[in-house]
Amino acid sequence: MWKLKYRIGSYLYCLCSFGLIAQHANESILPSSGVQETTQQQAEYSVEEEYALKQDEHDPLSNMREKFHIPTRSGEQLIYLNGNSLGLQPYEVAADMKQELDDWASLGVEGHFKENDPWYTFHEQFSPLVAKIVGANPGEVVCMNTLTVNLHLMMVSFYQPKGKRSKIIMEAPVFSSDTYAIKSQIQLHGLDPKTHLIIVEPAKGEKYITAHDIDKALKTHKGEVALVLLSSVNFLTGQAIDVPAISEVVHQHGAKLGLDLAHAIGNIPLKLHEWNVDFAAWCSYKYLNAGPGAVGGVFVHEKHTQNVNLKRLAGWWGNDPKLRFRMHLEKDFIPITTADGWQISNPPIFSMVPLKASLKLYDSIGMKAYREKSVKMTGYLEFLLDKMASKNIEIVTPRDPKHRGCQLSLLVHKNAKEFHEFLSKNGVICDFRQPNVIRVAPVPFYNSYHEIWRFAQIMKRYFEFY
Ligand SMILES: *Cc1c(COP(=O)(O)O)cnc(C)c1O
Repeated sequence: MWKLKYRIGSYLYCLCSFGLIAQHANESILPSSGVQETTQQQAEYSVEEEYALKQDEHDPLSNMREKFHIPTRSGEQLIYLNGNSLGLQPYEVAADMKQELDDWASLGVEGHFKENDPWYTFHEQFSPLVAKIVGANPGEVVCMNTLTVNLHLMMVSFYQPKGKRSKIIMEAPVFSSDTYAIKSQIQLHGLDPKTHLIIVEPAKGEKYITAHDIDKALKTHKGEVALVLLSSVNFLTGQAIDVPAISEVVHQHGAKLGLDLAHAIGNIPLKLHEWNVDFAAWCSYKYLNAGPGAVGGVFVHEKHTQNVNLKRLAGWWGNDPKLRFRMHLEKDFIPITTADGWQISNPPIFSMVPLKASLKLYDSIGMKAYREKSVKMTGYLEFLLDKMASKNIEIVTPRDPKHRGCQLSLLVHKNAKEFHEFLSKNGVICDFRQPNVIRVAPVPFYNSYHEIWRFAQIMKRYFEFY
């Protein structure tokens, strides 16, 4: 009984932190995955250690691991499966950082116009690289600020309540920061989140959000929705939503579509331009490996970047660069007609250096090869977990690779916290989300098949003895 009470207590705690409503407190936070199907690929996997070693040997990306610092404990490399939370440090970063520090030391203000990577145009080299990762034209993206700040800046432009059309749709479960940002934007317009924030959940008996669910909500609130803001990959379930289908229904209803790419960028292939997404924002410290609090970015669709009358919060770095340094002589803001027009301040060079190193690594292999390994590796992890057939863990991430990234979320029915501690003691770094979810993310850049195999052995040991 005590245990049950404790679990319900932590459930409530968890729901509160997701900003959900109390009526769901006696339901499971995550849907049960039910029947487990076998995919074509699964038939090719094997539980033998030999198999894992052989995959590493023939892995076309096997040379990427050495380009990253792998965390260690007592001299032993840890099994790092936490790239969904903080990606690892590319080796290049230290040398690149030293270069910028040296330039600052030796050049002072003249560093802004130095020969190599002048700080004045430093941010410009990022757009072509990140554009390839998100499926955009270079003029549709800019690296700046951090995720929640960028969501705010985007909502200033793309959430402009007019008369009846004043509501925002988001999905559940959602990351707390996004909820706070959205609610505060609604309040900024003098409106009430209780009536103006609509939270869409999977249909009854279903596990994941579909375009149909969004369509239904848009029909219920016909003509009243200004913006639909969703996570492209859900932080908790690991579901990748069907963006093109959702984009179509959102635009049919005359609303705008914004995406939070925190768990999607550098993880799954994206085609933001083709999918007609209005805007997107992301952070770069998860799969993009750009370090804690790294500089994030935004995508603004070309159909909006040309509109100089679009409302925005302005600053000199969003202004036409030809006029930027006329300072007090230029009183009127003339936005750049690319995503650069949403920049406010001059960029933090030292926070952008790690991002540069990481984007170059993506560019060196391309998203196609990255994704191929990702699908195979996550499928392998899924296969090993299924073979283990423990009644205590259940995969809640979609079974179809098309509907997920690299992360698998495991619902742990009994003693989730103890289980997580056991993993940690045995050299596995992955994360635990209250009250009973463990997220495991094999990253194609730096994880090996053999690590996945070892991870499965550690889990097996736990379930045999506890
Ligand atoms: C990681 C994450 C954030 C973090 O926001 P910051 O502004 O970078 O601190 C926000 N939303 C989602 C969905 C995330 O996954």
